[in-house]
Amino acid sequence: MDVTAGGTAGRPRRIVVCIKQVPRAQELQVDPVTQTLKRVGVPSEINPPDANALEMALQLKDRLGTEVVVLSMGPTSFDESLERAVAMGADRSVLLTDRILGGSDTVPTAYALSETIQKIGGYDLLLCGEETTDASTGHVGPGIAGHLDLPQITYVSEVRIINGKVRARRTAEDGTEWWETTMPCLCTVNFGCNRPREPTLTGKIRVKRGGLVTHWSCADVGIDPKKVGLFNSPTIVAKVDTVRLPSRSGQIFSGEPEESVRKLLASLVADRVIAA
Ligand SMILES: Cc1cc2nc3c(=O)[nH]c(=O)nc-3n(C[C@H](O)[C@H](O)[C@H](O)COP(=O)(O)OP(=O)(O)OC[C@H]3O[C@@H](n4cnc5c(N)ncnc54)[C@H](O)[C@@H]3O)c2cc1C
Repeated sequence: MDVTAGGTAGRPRRIVVCIKQVPRAQELQVDPVTQTLKRVGVPSEINPPDANALEMALQLKDRLGTEVVVLSMGPTSFDESLERAVAMGADRSVLLTDRILGGSDTVPTAYALSETIQKIGGYDLLLCGEETTDASTGHVGPGIAGHLDLPQITYVSEVRIINGKVRARRTAEDGTEWWETTMPCLCTVNFGCNRPREPTLTGKIRVKRGGLVTHWSCADVGIDPKKVGLFNSPTIVAKVDTVRLPSRSGQIFSGEPEESVRKLLASLVADRVIAA
């Protein structure tokens, strides 16, 4: 994927990529008692569209030498994903972690992340995934842009830096659109638009040496405790349903092809899959 054109003139100096650690999609389980997602003891991963956003940032870094900072908000178990991001090639990462953030919905999450981005400072481009696989609201990226009063381009599959501006290909319902905006700006990145690279040995050694994952509390960032957490979140998840799929069965029709097809059609008619 071509991420840049027009040389290094007006290149972004710092890209901040927001990533969330989510339970692996195949392992998603809802606690039948609390009706919340089970996160402890469940294999986790970088939210897949966020891995695409990180790859997009790393391709810009490869071409333009831009610094890539990865940011997450969550418990310290999220270090696993931040370390992976650094091992993939990010320069450093920041985890906003504080008990008072627990239960935050998208409103406090966008507020807290935008305050942390301001503390990181010096950014020209912010990248988020299009949405997460565990709650899938897609609110947080646009929420951050709103708090920071930045132009935003959503559902982006390709970014070019041209004469100091961001030109991005956006997926629309009936095709694709090209949008251009000044920096600093925010883009939300489409799932599957590129192939995220694997961590390298050099990257893993950098992680092992330490010092590249910084933890900040709300007090460190200057986040107002009255604006975060469960009790300052306007959304209430009233009920979560688990879809129970009916058990599946199969039938093999063997014998001569003509006879097998006749039996198959009769069976489909009997099951009302097709009309007689
Ligand atoms: C089953 C369930 C349902 C929920 N329903 C709602 C709901 O209806 N409304 C609501 O407000 N909240 C809801 N939540 C809470 C929601 O998980 C949190 O608000 C969460 O912090 C952000 O929402 P999201 O996962 O939908 O992010 P999205 O808005 O889908 O995320 C978009 C992008 O923002 C960035 N991002 C999101 N979260 C973080 C993070 N913690 N750290 C760094 N970057 C991040 C990533 O780049 C991500 O790809 C729900 C949670 C669960 C478990």
